[in-house]
Amino acid sequence: MALVLPSGPMKSEKIALPLTLKDPVYVESDTVSSGDPEPSGHVYYMVRKGDTLSKIFESLRVPQATLYKLLEADVNVLALDTILPGHKLEFQFDDQERLVRFTFKSGMTYKVDFTRGKKDDFEFAEHIEKGEMRTEIFAGIVKGNLPLSMKKSGTSLAEAYSVTGVLKTRMNFRRDLRAGDKFQVVLSRQYVDGKYTGSSKIEGFRYLGKRREVQIFSFDGNFFDEKGHSLEKAFQRIPLKKRYRISSNFNPRRRHPVTRAIRPHNGTDFATPMRTPVVAAGDGVVSRVIRHRYAGLYIEIQHGRKYRTRYLHLNKAYVKKGQKVSRGQKIALTGNSGRSTGPHLHYEFHINKRPVNAMKAPIPEVKTIARKHRNKFKQRVKTLSVQMEKVSEQQFENAQRDAASS
Ligand SMILES: [Zn+2]
Repeated sequence: MALVLPSGPMKSEKIALPLTLKDPVYVESDTVSSGDPEPSGHVYYMVRKGDTLSKIFESLRVPQATLYKLLEADVNVLALDTILPGHKLEFQFDDQERLVRFTFKSGMTYKVDFTRGKKDDFEFAEHIEKGEMRTEIFAGIVKGNLPLSMKKSGTSLAEAYSVTGVLKTRMNFRRDLRAGDKFQVVLSRQYVDGKYTGSSKIEGFRYLGKRREVQIFSFDGNFFDEKGHSLEKAFQRIPLKKRYRISSNFNPRRRHPVTRAIRPHNGTDFATPMRTPVVAAGDGVVSRVIRHRYAGLYIEIQHGRKYRTRYLHLNKAYVKKGQKVSRGQKIALTGNSGRSTGPHLHYEFHINKRPVNAMKAPIPEVKTIARKHRNKFKQRVKTLSVQMEKVSEQQFENAQRDAASS
């Protein structure tokens, strides 16, 4: 959902909904009666269809200026400009009904806290629940297509598709798939409070077919075959055609020069002149083209499930949301839009939704594993292969029996 900021004066419509509850119960706006905030001043709100942040803030009588202050802090995270039904918001007001704390939650694992500081600016803290990673192994036999066969073996469809996404560089599913082919997969699944969050990583996969055998092993965050050749399309480290001076590095502990508040810098700034061409760092699909009060005109590209990149303070975008782009394709011109101290490109690289230092992170750039990591990789292949072998014959037998009977 796009963020729409109110342009005219605030309407005085009465849809106030403050509630005070011991345990957070997230409410949708029209299910709550009006009233003033009670002393503890907590409001819990669940975003519903058609909501915009400005509408929600207006209904809680939070001044527009406060919303702008939040958006200013959010420029480092960009969590608030795409609120969706089901996201949870928590408001905490003081005695003067001033918003002192605001929390944004999405899913079971992601939360951003905004706390009002002394100078009325908001400081933010991003929390990503790491949970507990559990290794789970599945095995099965192909009947019909691969994703559905994998689902039958116990993986989710999303997991099956992320496997086929990596596999498709090595396999032609129409030609190479045969009923009765075997597969094995090792996944690391994330659990929070004993519940599977839906987030997982592929550790290893083997396809043992009549026509084709393919193996995938994850190593240092990238996918390789058993010989150590990369299975992923490579990225370019810098989304520009030439090198420009880095004017500000990625720095999660950066402090604001004036307020001294912690203002993480989640990207790398390049000192590019106005209207320098920006290219897509890798193949992907444009997931956002947004004009933000502080981030300016910005583009986000999703590269498969695992990676995404962001390009801020642009002057012009050449792509639209939903468009496919390829590595090196010109997507924009740099600029100075939003709040920016001068023309530059702010570039972010995220792995599994977490910003990383794009200049240093293990992004798939290499075609094969370096000689010095060979032994470690061989060990990893061995460990995963043993794990997959351990999947009992019983599981294959079960799958075979199911395949025969259905
Ligand atoms: Zn920057």
